[in-house]
Amino acid sequence: MGSLHEECGVFGIFRQAHADVAHDIYYGLTALQHRGQEAAGIAVCDTMGERGNICLHKNMGLVSEVFNEETLAGMKGNVGIGHVRYSTSGGSVTENVQPLSYHYLKGTLAIVHNGNIVNAGRLKEEMMKEGEVFRATSDTEVIAMRIARMRAHTSCIEEAVKEVTKELLGGYALLVMSPRKLVAIRDPLGLKPLCIGKITDGYVLASESCALSAVDAEFVRDVKPGEIITIRNGKLFTDETLCNNTLCNGSQAHCVFEYIYFARLDSVLDGISVYSARFQAGRMLAESGPVEADLVTGVPESGLTAAAGFADASGIPFMHAFHKNSYVGRTFIKPTQQERQTGVHMKLNVITEVVKGKRIVLIDDSIVRGTTIANLITMLRKAGASAVHVRISSPPFLYPCYYGTDVPDSTQLIAKQFSIEEIRKKIGADSLAYLRIEDLKKTTPDLPVCSACFDGKYPTETYDAK
Ligand code: AMP
Repeated sequence: MGSLHEECGVFGIFRQAHADVAHDIYYGLTALQHRGQEAAGIAVCDTMGERGNICLHKNMGLVSEVFNEETLAGMKGNVGIGHVRYSTSGGSVTENVQPLSYHYLKGTLAIVHNGNIVNAGRLKEEMMKEGEVFRATSDTEVIAMRIARMRAHTSCIEEAVKEVTKELLGGYALLVMSPRKLVAIRDPLGLKPLCIGKITDGYVLASESCALSAVDAEFVRDVKPGEIITIRNGKLFTDETLCNNTLCNGSQAHCVFEYIYFARLDSVLDGISVYSARFQAGRMLAESGPVEADLVTGVPESGLTAAAGFADASGIPFMHAFHKNSYVGRTFIKPTQQERQTGVHMKLNVITEVVKGKRIVLIDDSIVRGTTIANLITMLRKAGASAVHVRISSPPFLYPCYYGTDVPDSTQLIAKQFSIEEIRKKIGADSLAYLRIEDLKKTTPDLPVCSACFDGKYPTETYDAK
């Protein structure tokens, strides 16, 4: 379980009877594609139809590879959930592709999940000792099985969800579809994002606000940390009894990495625009790590907004130094180091005219292993740059994430192994500076954040996940 790290996006929709939602989910998932490129899936059902009559389609690949007009047209139902997923070592198997669906007491239960439950291993072991069997290796299945079991002892699905989430520790944005209802829950710490949108004949739930626009939904609000939302008969009900969950002392810890890298630039999460947070990070970097240079540029796409902020604060002009081939997937998804290296070259090319003879400030949002930045510096120098000063719009990555963001273990984190000066030499930069942690917190004003990957202060126990 510890080797399983998932980065995912979830989307759910409930519309009036006899409407079909599969296309809406397709558009929503496409808007969330940046949250996971490995697998995608959609489950729909008809709230007026036979209980247990669910239509599920899922596979490995991008949303556009998994679905076509024919598959979508065959999916009939006015309520549905969808998922995009990317997992690293250990979890890349079809059994883990979501939605997961099960026959249970009340028909069919389908579930999608973004995040990671740190005590899932314990819960699973407990259930296995009682004779339970599992098909998948993901923590999502543990949650689904527990909800299905709990439903036998509660009066409705939302009560079963509530009872089960009382036991869960970690980051989660969960959507559960029962034959008549769509239920959503966000972890009491608010680690994972989830928001509500309104359409004329129903409601939408999505990991990020950018997915609401994709189906023309109006943003209503973020789901509160710990809140359970139930949509039935086209109406929205809320239960806030877990909002100040004692498991986390009623405190909140929103994942700061969503703002640094993960979320889409046009999304607004918990009242803070991702764009503004990145722009601010760049501005503060210019103040804490000033340098004389001819131009500022960013690593596409992850460093561009911070670069614009750096340029704004420093007065050094912003220029595009790279062309990005948008038809090649993210560098990060290539599994081996060698493939990662070649991936960089496939994706980015230097615009020689811009960089020749210039002193350059190169901005990226983060350094993990150092592969990307080292490659880009080499490319800039080959194209004639006279100096390359690297500025990183987050603090050094020092600790793994146990809540579902893919930060590799410490042995692969360059900042854990080497000093900043040693990293500078390794990547071949003229100078290197990171954003200070106190400045990082200023990029999301008044929002309590989890920055455990930088400071090691985990907001929960992390026992199983270690
Ligand atoms: P590396 O080449 O290993 O140093 O990785 C750094 C690059 O990966 C940066 O350009 C980041 O934008 C990107 N990155 C950082 N964290 C993640 C993550 N959790 N998932 C995907 N990409 C990431």
